[in-house]
Amino acid sequence: MLGKCPRCGCDVTESKAGYGCTGFMNGCRFMIWKKQKQKMLAKIEFTKTDAKRFLAGKPTKKSHLLDKKGGEFKAQLVMEETPDNPFGPVFRVVPGTEEPAK
Ligand SMILES: [Zn+2]
Repeated sequence: MLGKCPRCGCDVTESKAGYGCTGFMNGCRFMIWKKQKQKMLAKIEFTKTDAKRFLAGKPTKKSHLLDKKGGEFKAQLVMEETPDNPFGPVFRVVPGTEEPAK
């Protein structure tokens, strides 16, 4: 168990493609995909630890994030839950935590 689903309160567990809500039988679609479609996250994969931190509302630090020009950087990310978004939560950089990649 990684945490509680922010939408329905059920447990979130790991599956092949991501970290999903066990309440899917009741129609809950909450899922943190390991591979994200957001361009900034194209080179990374979310780990179990990342998922736990996101579900606890904590930031998690990731390297190999991509900026608009394709350059890599490191930063703290937070999950932003938008319950009406069928594609799940989005992830954004905590302002001021960006560091250039070495
Ligand atoms: Zn749920």
